[in-house]
Amino acid sequence: MEKLVIIGNGIAGCTAALYAARADIAPLVYTGPESGGQLTLTTTVDNFPGFPDGILGPELVENAKKQAEKYGAKFKFGIVTKFEKKKDHYVLTIDNKDKVEASSVIVATGASARWLGIESEKTYKGKGVHTCATCDGYFYKDKTVVVVGGGDSAMEESLVLAKLCTKVTVLHRRDEFRASKAMQKRFTDDKKTNVIWNVVVEEILGDGKKVTGVKLKDTKTGEKKEVKTDGVFLAIGHVPNTTIFKGLLDMDNHGYLKVDGQLKTKLPGVFAAGDVHDNRYRQAVTAAGAGCQAALEVQRYLAEKGL
Ligand code: NAP
Repeated sequence: MEKLVIIGNGIAGCTAALYAARADIAPLVYTGPESGGQLTLTTTVDNFPGFPDGILGPELVENAKKQAEKYGAKFKFGIVTKFEKKKDHYVLTIDNKDKVEASSVIVATGASARWLGIESEKTYKGKGVHTCATCDGYFYKDKTVVVVGGGDSAMEESLVLAKLCTKVTVLHRRDEFRASKAMQKRFTDDKKTNVIWNVVVEEILGDGKKVTGVKLKDTKTGEKKEVKTDGVFLAIGHVPNTTIFKGLLDMDNHGYLKVDGQLKTKLPGVFAAGDVHDNRYRQAVTAAGAGCQAALEVQRYLAEKGL
């Protein structure tokens, strides 16, 4: 029986692992399908305290993993496909076959990119429609791309793409950005970026193999038009990875886990940390803080149980 299993190795999971390992709990961390979480999909993180010159997102999370391993945290690749409650412990099924028993669990499964939900994006997923400019932007070197969204991610993705592409057009459904003023300024200062306001993507157009354009609908007038592009990058937010907990843990309407002030879920010994429960702050530093908090609560829980 594991004392603690942490599901997810983003910055929340790694920080929880670090704190639990230093408390001699030797946590087992499952790394899941998007190992390292959202920080692995970003470039420089400028707002994590302690790095005045910024730090690359993948480096930050890899360092946190190494730091946790140094004190005895065990990291394994495996997707938790089922989560069950037994009398006084939990059973996790890994990759639909192996079973792992745990006295306590920290759910740090994070959130994944949201997709538009239109049929044509499935046809061109990975072949012209992407959710990570850092990962896939290079395929569009010297080409034109569109970025869908109006938040910080849309600005950040556009700036990454503007370094490679000839033109980056943001498609936003309203007439003002949600992004921070600082990110908006960097975006508007860039010579290669521009915006089409008040539009939604109705269809991704292509020749079956690659994307050639997008069909847009004006959200104010209903007017439709086509814009040529070589690639589409979606930056329209995220959805929490909570499917396996449906019916077992309380969630809000969007699927974010409900927790109390100590990050406890409704099941004893099960805590949540990071973007899987936080729909408000969603920052690397708040996710790390939640990982710390959850690990401290696990220590208390295990101590009370005499484990
Ligand atoms: P977000 O702030 O939720 O923004 C999502 C954007 O996508 C919004 O502009 C939204 O439009 C639009 N959108 C949502 N669903 C859509 C749909 N179906 N069709 C068209 N547009 C849609 O998400 P985010 O930009 O990923 O940022 C998430 C969090 O991470 C935020 O807290 C952000 O500050 C943080 N972040 C920070 C940085 C940084 O500081 N460097 C970088 C990236 C992210 P509306 O505006 O109309 O709702």
